[in-house]
Amino acid sequence: MKIKKLCGLKKDDIEKYAKKIFKIVSKPKFICEKCARVARDEKHLCHPTVLKKS
Ligand SMILES: [Zn+2]
Repeated sequence: MKIKKLCGLKKDDIEKYAKKIFKIVSKPKFICEKCARVARDEKHLCHPTVLKKS
């Protein structure tokens, strides 16, 4: 199964897909304005915005 959105994941899902999630959140380029989750690809977030490095 492919993970579409990190935002809607429940605790059980996170445990189940931990390895995939770790890949998605490593070196993130986007952050969700609503949920404060980060991802390498904006398709995994419900309200993605570019994550700028400070
Ligand atoms: Zn979100």
